[in-house]
Amino acid sequence: MIVLKTVEELKKMRAAGRISQRALRLAGQAVEPGVTTSELDAIVRKYIEDQGATPSFLGYGGFPASACISVNNVVIHGIPNEKTILKQGDIVSIDVGAFFEGYHGDNAWTFACGDISDEAQRLLDTTRDSLFEGIKAAKAGGRIGDIGHAVQRYAELRSYSVVRDFTGHGVGAKLHEAPNVPNYGTPGRGAALMPGMTIAIEPMVNAGTHRVKVLRDKWTTVTADGKLSAHFEHTLAITPDGPVILTDAD
Ligand code: MG
Repeated sequence: MIVLKTVEELKKMRAAGRISQRALRLAGQAVEPGVTTSELDAIVRKYIEDQGATPSFLGYGGFPASACISVNNVVIHGIPNEKTILKQGDIVSIDVGAFFEGYHGDNAWTFACGDISDEAQRLLDTTRDSLFEGIKAAKAGGRIGDIGHAVQRYAELRSYSVVRDFTGHGVGAKLHEAPNVPNYGTPGRGAALMPGMTIAIEPMVNAGTHRVKVLRDKWTTVTADGKLSAHFEHTLAITPDGPVILTDAD
C-alpha cells in the first residue's frame, strides 16, 4: 500500500532527510587514501546519533553497520570493515539512512578517492545526472515508469547499464515502503504518482553488464563482470508544485 504523507509529515521527513544528508556529506569529506570503510561508518553513526536520530540501516535485516560502503565493482550493500583501506583512484559509494521522530531519510552518493580515471569520472557524472533526470520525471499525474525510463534512457545513451535486481522504493515511517521504483521502465506504466508520495530514487549504474551477484555474506553485491558501478540516491516528495528533494542539507 502506498502511504501518502501530510504536509506535517513531510516536514518531519525533511528533518530526517537533512540528518541523513549531512552524515553522508561528512563521510564523503573523509574519503581519502588510507582511510578504512569502518572509519567512514563510524563518522556516519556518530553524526546521526549526536542529532538524537538512529542510523536506519544498523540492524536492518541484520545489517551490521550504519552505512553501506561499496568500493569500485561493489554495487551496493558493502559492509564497512577495517580491511578495506581506500586507495587513490577508488570510487566509493556511501549509502546512509537516518530515522528521526518517526520517519526515515535515505540517500547515497559515490565519491572519488583522490584522483580518479576519466573513465570513472564519466561513470560518476552520468549516474548522478541520471538521478536528476529521474527526479525531474517524478511529477504528480505521471507514473512510476516515467522515472525509470528517464534514468535508463540517460544511462544507456551513454553506453552504461542500469541494475535490474535492486530498485528504489517508497520511504516514510518504514525505510522501504511501496511502491518499488525501478531504474528502468516504460513511460505511462506503473503506479500513479500522487502528491504526498515520498520515494527514494537510486540509480545503480554499471560500466559493463547490468548483471550483479550477491556474495556469500548475503549483502555485498558486485558487478558480474568486475567492472565499476556507481550509486546516487535522494529521497523526495511528489508535490503539486513538482518534486521536492527531502535529503537536502541546505
Ligand atoms: Mg534506498
